[in-house]
Amino acid sequence: MNSFNFISLTLNSTEIPMFSTAIAGSLPKPEWLAETNKLWPKWQAEGDALLQAKADATLLWIKAQEDAGLDVIGDGEQSRQHFVHGFLEQVEGIDFENKVTMGIRNNRYDAQVPQVIAPLKLKGRVHAFEAQLARAHTKKKLKFTLPGPMTIVDTVADRFYGKGKDAVQGRIDMAFAFAELLNQEALALQADGVDIIQFDEPAFNVYLDEAADWGVKALERAAQGLTCTTAVHICYGYGIEANNNWKKTLGDEWRQYEKVLPALAKSSIQQVSLECYHSHVPPEMMALLEGKDVMVGVIDVASDVIETPEQIADTIGMALKYVPKNRLIACTNCGLAPMSREVAVKKLEALAAGAALARTRYA
Ligand code: ZN
Repeated sequence: MNSFNFISLTLNSTEIPMFSTAIAGSLPKPEWLAETNKLWPKWQAEGDALLQAKADATLLWIKAQEDAGLDVIGDGEQSRQHFVHGFLEQVEGIDFENKVTMGIRNNRYDAQVPQVIAPLKLKGRVHAFEAQLARAHTKKKLKFTLPGPMTIVDTVADRFYGKGKDAVQGRIDMAFAFAELLNQEALALQADGVDIIQFDEPAFNVYLDEAADWGVKALERAAQGLTCTTAVHICYGYGIEANNNWKKTLGDEWRQYEKVLPALAKSSIQQVSLECYHSHVPPEMMALLEGKDVMVGVIDVASDVIETPEQIADTIGMALKYVPKNRLIACTNCGLAPMSREVAVKKLEALAAGAALARTRYA
């Protein structure tokens, strides 16, 4: 081992405790902030009162994550209505007045989506309020999530970038336009003191060839120049009915990641989050992520049953066959947004207890 390797190993072991714990991103919104159990909930207040309610909910969840004993803290996405539209609201060139119905995630479900009608440009900062608030209220590592370019492209209707081009080129051009804007916001979040910036790319397992061809490159463009830790969350979606029904059609072995994981392994992105517990993704697929930190999903977000520490430690033990100890982060399969608050808190506690048990078992 040369001295450079020795230094990087030493840094790794002090920066990330073994089996450190994190959530994928979202947490349920309290009923006084927004409608509950919905992915596109209506806010319960307006103006300053809404801003205060968002801040209160963010602080509440920071405290809950710290009390549970998690190592990486997030804002729980309390300030955005939806993980994609929260970003789009600050982008010029999008017509929100005239939404159209579009089949998204390869027509898995219909959504009312805004239309891109002119060159895209940021109106200003997108997430400064909640990122700075979260940074001021936790000394732990802070992770912040942004939608990935490919997933955004799959959640808006294009009336501008694809004009006079073939459909794929239009999507690529629009993805790179969004990637530039994401990059601006990501650099600003880093300056706010965010430690880990994670891009969410559920579209990566829907458009398999395109994800490997250009999706990962667009993601790298979004992360360009960042010196903080970079991450991507790929997944089979929230535990909502349309997703659960779709999953039933995928067969016993979900091999969708087989194309995109090698592309991610070659990329500059440092951490990859994927679902594991109660998932049909063959665990040996994680071996395709050699060289990356892997956020292993040990908490099922489609079930209200609380995992036991033993079950979580077992999942970690299984993942250890494919992921080195110093690269494994225990995480939730996906966001907890559609769950009840009570269940979400118990799942956070279970996550910390399970990782602690795994540390004693596999140290
Ligand atoms: Zn997810």
